[in-house]
Amino acid sequence: MIDLHTHSDQSDGSVSPADLVRQARDAGLEALGITDHDTLAGWDLAAPAATDLGIELVCGVEISTRIAPGSKRSVHLLGYFLADPPPRDFRDWLRNWQESRRRRNVELIAKLQSLGLDLRLEEAQALGGNLTGRPHFAQVMVRKGYVKTIQQAFDLYLADDAKAAVHRDQSSLIQGIERIRAAGGLASLPHPSRLAEARERNSLIALLKPLLRAGLDGIEVYCSEHTAAHIALFLSVARELRLAVTGGSDFHGANKPGIELGTGAGNNLDLPYSLLEALREHAAAR
Ligand code: AMP
Ligand code: ZN
Ligand code: FE
Ligand code: FE
Repeated sequence: MIDLHTHSDQSDGSVSPADLVRQARDAGLEALGITDHDTLAGWDLAAPAATDLGIELVCGVEISTRIAPGSKRSVHLLGYFLADPPPRDFRDWLRNWQESRRRRNVELIAKLQSLGLDLRLEEAQALGGNLTGRPHFAQVMVRKGYVKTIQQAFDLYLADDAKAAVHRDQSSLIQGIERIRAAGGLASLPHPSRLAEARERNSLIALLKPLLRAGLDGIEVYCSEHTAAHIALFLSVARELRLAVTGGSDFHGANKPGIELGTGAGNNLDLPYSLLEALREHAAAR
């Protein structure tokens, strides 16, 4: 079994990179992909543990992008570096988005305070560490009793259309694909079920075609959030467009309860090692 979509505490997961590798070994995984948001820090820290434990570690990243330049709509994008980790300039490029998030956090805390919430940036940063994001603000809001759940914090305050929404710079989806490809990576579209276009096969294909021209390699067919109908749709679209198939749980540890490493939500995943072999073949053939 393999899992190619996981988050460590270097982004918004709860488990340290080394512990993530240990948990992957204990779960019997043959390969683990770490795909932290906008940073490679989790993979960097996990690599020595993976060598020690003899588990194959796949270098990945999940980038938050805008579906089109100037759009408010945010779409995630996975990058996989199957042979070599990305070069320096790609890490430098990622740093832009880490900094845009930090600037946004300063504005966000001011907005939350102006709405009467007694919160300090340091409280979110204490949870976020390397990469403090909105989920960490949400955790503080739950702890202080302003909301009952993380989701309520988003619905009332933090979501893109909620009271405390603050716009931040993000790359466009196409620019993200081009950057991943230029760095030698394989670009895949995660959890496509979240896209409104996925409700209709033709809309999804219309969305994907320009992305393919930009260099999109794959689509995350297998993911904890997908129903059997989603999987069937995305598999058939992948075949039609000759997209590679990727998959993973989107494990975040305690920060996303109900999702287990490898097996997903209620055992809805069991990805064979051959999926990773097929990805390698796709990368070699392009
Ligand atoms: P940030 O990158 O700091 O803007 O935070 C983005 C993260 O917040 C995403 O990866 C999601 O985990 C979470 N998130 C964003 N919007 C929502 C939402 N409407 N409901 C729940 N979680 C969300
Ligand atoms: Zn996340
Ligand atoms: Fe995501
Ligand atoms: Fe993710």
